[in-house]
Amino acid sequence: MNKYEILKKYFGYTQFRKGQEDLIEQILLGKDVLGIMPTGAGKSLCFQIPALMLEGITLVISPLISLMKDQVNSLTQAGVSVAYLNSTLTANQFNQVLKNSINEKYKIIYVAPERLNTEGFLHFAKNANISMIAVDEAHCVSQWGQDFRPSYLKIMEFVHKLKERPIISAFTATATAAVKEDIIKILKLKEPFSVTTGFDRKNLYFEVRKPKNKMQELHKLLGNYKNKCGIIYCATRKNVEQVCTELQNEGYLASRYHAGLSEEERKNNQEDFIYDRCLIMVATNAFGMGIDKSNVSFVIHYNMPKNIESYYQEAGRAGRDGEDASCILLYSGQDVVTNQFFIENSNENEEMDEETALLVKEKDRERLKAMTFYCHTTECLREYILNYFGEKSSGFCDNCSNCHSNFETMDITVEAQKILSCVYRVKENYGIKMIVDILRGSKNERLMRFGLNKLSTYSIMADTSEKIIRKIIDYLILEEYLRSTLDEYPVLKLTPLSPDILKGRKNLSMKLIKEIPLKEHKDIKIHNVNSELFEGLKAIRNYIAKKQRVPSYIIFTDATLKDMCKKLPKNEEELLEVNGVGQVKLKKYGGQFLNEILKFTAE
Ligand code: ADP
Ligand code: MG
Repeated sequence: MNKYEILKKYFGYTQFRKGQEDLIEQILLGKDVLGIMPTGAGKSLCFQIPALMLEGITLVISPLISLMKDQVNSLTQAGVSVAYLNSTLTANQFNQVLKNSINEKYKIIYVAPERLNTEGFLHFAKNANISMIAVDEAHCVSQWGQDFRPSYLKIMEFVHKLKERPIISAFTATATAAVKEDIIKILKLKEPFSVTTGFDRKNLYFEVRKPKNKMQELHKLLGNYKNKCGIIYCATRKNVEQVCTELQNEGYLASRYHAGLSEEERKNNQEDFIYDRCLIMVATNAFGMGIDKSNVSFVIHYNMPKNIESYYQEAGRAGRDGEDASCILLYSGQDVVTNQFFIENSNENEEMDEETALLVKEKDRERLKAMTFYCHTTECLREYILNYFGEKSSGFCDNCSNCHSNFETMDITVEAQKILSCVYRVKENYGIKMIVDILRGSKNERLMRFGLNKLSTYSIMADTSEKIIRKIIDYLILEEYLRSTLDEYPVLKLTPLSPDILKGRKNLSMKLIKEIPLKEHKDIKIHNVNSELFEGLKAIRNYIAKKQRVPSYIIFTDATLKDMCKKLPKNEEELLEVNGVGQVKLKKYGGQFLNEILKFTAE
């Protein structure tokens, strides 16, 4: 079988995606390769297909049990004979798998890196015909990344013990130069053929919102995602608890995940999410590595993360199946303060000498600033992210909130003067909310009690919406004409730059959104598929998944079911044309799905 036949037979696809074919081709020529492709791009196929075509066995090294399980489930469903070796197996099971391996029962074996240099495994490996070692999540070798795994450093020690050096292929979504260099150096890749596909994820919609009340905004947002799976990231455990409890009380199928929970609960909650028993996961950034769940339709950040790297990684967990998905960030100025606090008070760097620690802090501050800018930019959000990673883009993606908004440049010198003088009048003693209230002439109780209604700046911006005033204040902070203190109740202070504005030495302008959006964002595009049939097919899929004890997307993804609804196949041959239906799955499940489709078309 050639690579196209394998692609169709086992995976049900007719076309390779960008980068896949070249990588497969080079591996088959016996070359080491390095594939750097974003999440969801389809890296697994790049080593799975050659593994099925090479003569001997392929070992796949993967850092996490959940990742292994996911891929092994998928391959098994596709009809590939495959096994894994990790700590979840009993000694008996482990020996059985080894025995089968020696008898060449598997083409692909997934191994945890810790297992490589153990006696039992070495005994097998030294005598086996190993064609390739595929290192998945290869950035784990690098101390520069956030997922460093010391056991990844032992991979080469293992390779040296083998009769012959196999082909080594490495895959990651992390593209920074330092990590790439580390991978090549530490895995001793020999003149690797390397592919870096673009970082863009076209199916992801990006949006930043600055709501006054985040919880209310979240409710509004979730209304758009009925029956959809999603992740809500919060900055702290406390926020996770609050948001999750509130959602559960409202009747949402929500679960939670953070480092403060017992290992048992974390595992259960994660499984509930993967198996669609709960639809919404509320979590800290502890959640996600190893989540290959393909049908995540939205990732909402309840708080702004600490840098763009984290944001793109977390947001990128949406839409792995290639379906439209949304990444929405709920920003508030307090998020900046919280992150600043984390940076200044982090003890993570205790092992570093003082100079290095200071440098790291400085870098962290810069990265936080870039993240904050993302929340304030009026330019294309996708372009901003891609530029950050050193990639060019067109500047208009038509799939982010800024491209869907109508901005106009406004002179805000007078507004800025009013705001700064108000801060001056209250002796730099109040936070944003009070300043806005004074400027707008609010009659709130605290304001009246303190006599702030007697100030000359009281009510001088009564005609300007609160939203706009807040935007201008955000902008002034960003441009350092104002600053917000780092206390629990932050107050606004003037800066050395403030007099330039107050004394009229400098004009300011900024892009402000016209209050009517250009076009309403279609949060979920309505696909031309019949929802009744789609639901029917989903029910069959979920039933099969339950019986087989695998997550439903491993049987068929939503994209595959939608393609069935579109193509309405009348027989097995036509069903095989559906994207994601391979020979093995056709034989196993085709009949049940065909029946449902025929029933529907007959009506
Ligand atoms: P990565 O490891 O790069 O994050 P995966 O290997 O998990 O991505 O693949 C993500 C999804 O893309 C999977 O559902 C996979 O089946 C699908 N996929 C991979 N290659 C193709 C292809 N050529 N055509 C259609 N879908 C594909
Ligand atoms: Mg992967």
